[in-house]
Amino acid sequence: MTATGELPTVGTQPVFEVRNPGTGDLVGTYPVHSRDEVAAAVVRARAAFVWWSGLGYRARAERLSRFAGVIARRMGQLSSIIHDETGKPYSDAMLESALTLDHLKWAGRNASKILGRKRSRVGLLTFNQAASVEYKPLGVIGVIGPWNYPVFTPLGSIIYALAAGNAVVFKPSEFSPGVGAWLVRMFGEVVPEHPVLQLLTGDASTGEALCRAGVDKIAFTGSTATAKKVMAVCAESLTPMVAECGGKDVLIVDADADLDAAVEAALWAGMANAGQSCIATERVYVHRSIYEPFVDRLVARARSVRAGIDAEAKIGPITMPRQVAVIRRHLEDAIVRGGRVLTGGVSEINGQLVQPTVLVDVPEDALAVTEETFGPTLTVASVDDMDVAIERANASRYGLAAVVYSKARGRELAERLHAGMVSVNGVFTIPQIPSLPFGGVGDSGFGRIHGPDGLREFTYAHAVARQRFAPLMAVTTFDRTAKTDALLAKTMTLLHGKRQVD
Ligand code: NAD
Repeated sequence: MTATGELPTVGTQPVFEVRNPGTGDLVGTYPVHSRDEVAAAVVRARAAFVWWSGLGYRARAERLSRFAGVIARRMGQLSSIIHDETGKPYSDAMLESALTLDHLKWAGRNASKILGRKRSRVGLLTFNQAASVEYKPLGVIGVIGPWNYPVFTPLGSIIYALAAGNAVVFKPSEFSPGVGAWLVRMFGEVVPEHPVLQLLTGDASTGEALCRAGVDKIAFTGSTATAKKVMAVCAESLTPMVAECGGKDVLIVDADADLDAAVEAALWAGMANAGQSCIATERVYVHRSIYEPFVDRLVARARSVRAGIDAEAKIGPITMPRQVAVIRRHLEDAIVRGGRVLTGGVSEINGQLVQPTVLVDVPEDALAVTEETFGPTLTVASVDDMDVAIERANASRYGLAAVVYSKARGRELAERLHAGMVSVNGVFTIPQIPSLPFGGVGDSGFGRIHGPDGLREFTYAHAVARQRFAPLMAVTTFDRTAKTDALLAKTMTLLHGKRQVD
């Protein structure tokens, strides 16, 4: 932005700059694509869709597998761009890139089985019909992505949309356009024939234009507040959307849990990627019988994790400068309300570096417990039993991922958590399993990526019923006789009229 709030331009094209959040170095300059450019991309995508969907499942799977090969061989290159744009440590960027590969293979290999035409059962009245359903691609999918996992997250939509036979127009976050550009370029190497996956760069204005460009669905990943704006724009044209939004994820620890494992899980899930994960643990509820040793060990471990921009730092800077103010506000609010900082805290914020922070005695209505903080912070509270832990966990308006640590009651407690994803005695496991759906409830959004649900998300059900022979009882005719009506009534009574025994 210039001093007057205008975007800078190159020629007549408005552009924006991307800076490394750790060093402030300029990483790249990208165009803010206009409404006309967005519309033109969608027109190109529509033609590409005809070709891509016509290729069939097997050929698409083969291309997706080759795309996985390219990413695997050039993971170092990709990880450098992720690191430069988001500040994420290089090794975490490698991990993120690696985790997409199984999804590429799984979606390609399973699309035919999950979406292909299948016979459906018929009833007595439709005994003469051959019924079947196939899940057909919607057409052109607009993918709007965030910056925090700039490879894994948007690819969660892109891969599954492509495997189902759609073309995709992708607008990455304005904080990570270089990662998006790299992915689109590499995909173009394995699918050079048509622009099946295209890139648009820009900010909210470009995203909004994409929602208005006549795409067949929007796959949005980002904050809940933005999802509401996107949904309002999509409503104008009845464009459906998937909303993968924020969270306030919980980890509950039962009395019999493996204490060291639970501490390590809370530490990783709370602090990894500087807490900037949609499924980051932000709240921990621990059975009172192990609360003190849990907190002591967690604080000791948290002190060993340092935020920095050097190669040894375990976590990087906060990527978006404005997020630091949110983290600060949540910490200050918690302290004013009686919360205590055991390590980290406001005094440990230096520019965009926020040191791992553990808070206790924070009231349940404090911002640090109710709102997404998106920083390396954990609130830890003692509970008398797991019923209280579940009640507090479920009191949130979010419901993305939840974690249970318990030896005996893991499954039982998992059933009672109101969230899209629950892992027992492990963290961040669900996104690593391609066959499981990823998504949330409440303010965490709706719709699913990954797994069979993630494939179907980008399709429509196409039902066909074919008459094999004339019906024994013709009911869809004005020539229906009283005899047919009587026979129908008798048959239905026999089938459904049995008195229920209470
Ligand atoms: P954001 O909401 O600020 O932006 C997300 C994307 O939306 C960006 O590409 C942005 O340019 C675009 N955008 C902004 N305003 C728009 C508008 N009016 N119309 C159309 N597009 C618009 O989110 P962010 O800061 O990039 O990402 C962080 C958020 O994403 C966190 O809340 C995090 O929890 C969430 N997230 C969720 C998941 C998930 O799968 N549930 C995964 C990663 C991140």
